Amino acid sequence: MLRRSPRRPLQHSTERIPLESPHERAQRATFDGGKSAGKKALEELGPELAELQEKLFAEGYTGSRQRVLLVLQGMDTSGKGGVLSHTVGLLDPSGIVLKSFKKPTDEELAHDFLWRIEHALPRAGEIGIFDRSHYEDVLVVKVHELVEPDEIERRYTAINAFEQRLADTGTTIIKCMLHISADKQRERLLARLDEPTKQWKFKPADVDERERWDDYQAAYAIALERCNIAAAPWYVVPSDRKWYRNWAIAQLLLETLRALDVDWPAPDYDVAVQRARLESDRPGSGT
Ligand code: AMP
Ligand code: MG
Repeated sequence: MLRRSPRRPLQHSTERIPLESPHERAQRATFDGGKSAGKKALEELGPELAELQEKLFAEGYTGSRQRVLLVLQGMDTSGKGGVLSHTVGLLDPSGIVLKSFKKPTDEELAHDFLWRIEHALPRAGEIGIFDRSHYEDVLVVKVHELVEPDEIERRYTAINAFEQRLADTGTTIIKCMLHISADKQRERLLARLDEPTKQWKFKPADVDERERWDDYQAAYAIALERCNIAAAPWYVVPSDRKWYRNWAIAQLLLETLRALDVDWPAPDYDVAVQRARLESDRPGSGT
C-alpha cells in the first residue's frame, strides 16, 4: 500500500522525487470524492483501530511484551501535529505515550544521543508515538555539522543495532517520513503567517532551515537508506494532501496491529468461582 523507502537514495531535487507509486495512485483513486471521501475513510478505520489497540493494551496488562512504536519525521509543516490529532486521535489516549523531541537539553547532550530515546520508549501494551526522534541526530545534526562526520557514521550503525534490539524484545517499529514538496511548505508557512491562530506555530528560524532544504533532503535520503532494516522499515508517506497523509498512516497502523494478531486475553482465574463469590457475599449488610 505504502511505498517502502527506495534502496537507492532519494534524489535531492524534490521535484524529481516521485510522490506516489502507481499502486498508491490506484489506492487513492478509490477515493472518488478526494478529500471528503478520504476523511470519511479515515473515520471508518477508527473502531477497528481502537479495538485492536485495546486488545494490545489488555495483552500487555496480562503479561505480553508486545508494543508498537510509530516514529514521525518530516520537514516543518509536513504535518506531524496533524497526524497526532487526526490519526492518533482515533486511539484511546490511556494506551498512548506521546513524546516530542526538541533541541536536546544540556543534560541530554551530556549522554549518548540514544539516552533520551531509551527513556521515552513505550511499555508493554502501549503505542508510543515519537514526534521527531533519534533521527534528528543524523538530520539536523548533520545539516548543521553539530558533530564530527565520524560520529554521524557511528550513529547510523548504532540506530540499526538499537532498533533491532527493540524489535527483538517485542517492539514493532513503524517509521514514517512525511514527505512534502518545497512549494507546499512555502504555502503552509505563508498560511501560518497570514492566520492569527497559526502565527504562534511560525518561527523565523523555520525559514533558515528551509534555506537548507537540499541539505535536509540529502540527509534524509542517507538516513532512510542506511537505517531501513527489515525489523524497522521506513515508509515515505506523500503528505502534500493532509487527508491522504492521515489516512495512509492510520492504514499503516491498522495493518500493523492486525499483523500482531492481538486478542482478548483469557482470564487467569476461574470465572464461575469468582461469580459465585460475588453472588453470595453480603458486605455492608452489617452481619
Ligand atoms: P518543532 O518540532 O517544530 O517544535 O521543533 C523542534 C526543533 O528541535 C526542531 O528544529 C528540531 O530540529 C530540533 N531538534 C530535535 N531534536 C534535535 C536534536 N537531536 N538536535 C538538535 N536539534 C533537535
Ligand atoms: Mg516547527
